[in-house]
Amino acid sequence: MLIIRQITSVLFLFLSTFGYSQSLQTNLSDTTTEPKVYQRTLKLMGSRFDLTVVAENQEKGNEYLDLAISEISRIEKLISSWDPLSQTSAINRNAGLKPVKVDLELFQLIERALKVSNLTQGAFDISYASMDRIWKFDGSVTEMPPMETIKQSVAKVGCQNIILDRDNQTVFLKNKGMKIGFGAIGKGYAADKTKALLVEQGVKSGIINASGDLNAWGTKPNGKDWMVAIVNPLNKSKVFSWLPVKNQSVVTSGNYEKYIILNGERYSHIIDPRTGYPSKGILSATIFTQNAELADALATSIFVMGVETGLDFINQLKGVECIIVDQDNKVMTSKNIALKEIEKQSR
Ligand code: ADP
Ligand code: MG
Repeated sequence: MLIIRQITSVLFLFLSTFGYSQSLQTNLSDTTTEPKVYQRTLKLMGSRFDLTVVAENQEKGNEYLDLAISEISRIEKLISSWDPLSQTSAINRNAGLKPVKVDLELFQLIERALKVSNLTQGAFDISYASMDRIWKFDGSVTEMPPMETIKQSVAKVGCQNIILDRDNQTVFLKNKGMKIGFGAIGKGYAADKTKALLVEQGVKSGIINASGDLNAWGTKPNGKDWMVAIVNPLNKSKVFSWLPVKNQSVVTSGNYEKYIILNGERYSHIIDPRTGYPSKGILSATIFTQNAELADALATSIFVMGVETGLDFINQLKGVECIIVDQDNKVMTSKNIALKEIEKQSR
């Protein structure tokens, strides 16, 4: 049963800053062994990252944060389609020409992305990237492009033309002009990999938050759960309610920052790869699940699927939950999230 509620404002999830104050009070000569929160904010992969670790002293805290940063930078170098030196750019440059040998890590990321395309019947598609010339979210698109132009824009899109050769570990884009991009999955992937690396190093607790796409583990030093806040994106200081995050990822796709208004309708930066039209009808989609890469891909997919299909789809997946806010500010949840409970907690 879905709980549908009308609320006054758009909601989205924003990481709690609770606990951060402790790290600000520590100084470099800190030799304490009592675990504390250490935190750093910086821009990586073109997005804001808030990195949080719990460590026994400042030195360890810094070491872990440095490690996290180098891991995210490493991933960026591999998957960025802006960096001409990345393997992803090499794949794109060789579209229609020849297969490109890549690292196993990239090969497997593409394999998983193709699985999500299958699962979502093409709503999610990393080969969306060849049509990025037609939709620009910088205010320059003021009218709907002609139907024919939109139709042509998807001519090079289609993940069935991404040819993977497991034996040779190569990726081949069959048609000239085809391109892949990890805009809808890369931040989630980076959060997962960084968390895994830190856990391996013995970090008991932390949060990798890539602009609201986060993966958290462990608890705060006082034993309490990390929290995410549901806030009003039009006024981010206004928190509606808090939710605990227990060894889990929470990822939000929203169209409150990147969108176009055409004929009074609000279109998002997430495009239906099957039609070429930007999606509309949803203001934000938040996914809760174990891994941030999947959550990232699914949040994007929900935008393309629309509210009803999106909810139906999520309700069929085990261990995945979602909160969707539609264009009329209605909040809808998958069947295992009781929104009433959330509201009660906030009081
Ligand atoms: P956010 O940028 O809000 O984190 P997403 O994770 O949903 O949002 O990713 C949106 C980005 O994904 C777009 O900017 C674009 O680069 C890419 N993209 C757009 N439509 C699709 C799609 N249907 N499938 C895969 N990637 C997409
Ligand atoms: Mg996404």
